[in-house]
Amino acid sequence: MNKMRFDVKCVKECLVENKIVYTVRSWEGYKELSKVEVDGVGLCTKKRVMRVIRKDDLARYLSLSGFGSIDDWWAKICSFGACDGWLFEVRAIPASSLPEKRSKCPGCNESLPATLLQDLNRCDNCGCPAYLFDGAT
Ligand SMILES: [Zn+2]
Repeated sequence: MNKMRFDVKCVKECLVENKIVYTVRSWEGYKELSKVEVDGVGLCTKKRVMRVIRKDDLARYLSLSGFGSIDDWWAKICSFGACDGWLFEVRAIPASSLPEKRSKCPGCNESLPATLLQDLNRCDNCGCPAYLFDGAT
């Protein structure tokens, strides 16, 4: 898993508070969409939004950048040498959407989410009781 660093405090805080932040980097990254790990936040998706050409391009993303004004943001971007860089959307992945544990039904071979099995206490598909499940993921 690639780590992504946030050295600018207000940017990191925006991600922590809003679970999303727009950030400009000088490097376009490996691919358009990837997963990264951020210290203190956890797993995030990192999406390449666009190449930054002008300061005005960023205006619509300002409210989720962590900066109070477009000039502050732009000055920081330039100080990192990223004025012709790339805009990324970094979004925290909620724990609930992480791949969940699944169990396979011995009756019909259907794979059921463990949480659903717990709720129903039987197979959603064929009614096989939960205690017969093999617990395989
Ligand atoms: Zn079943």
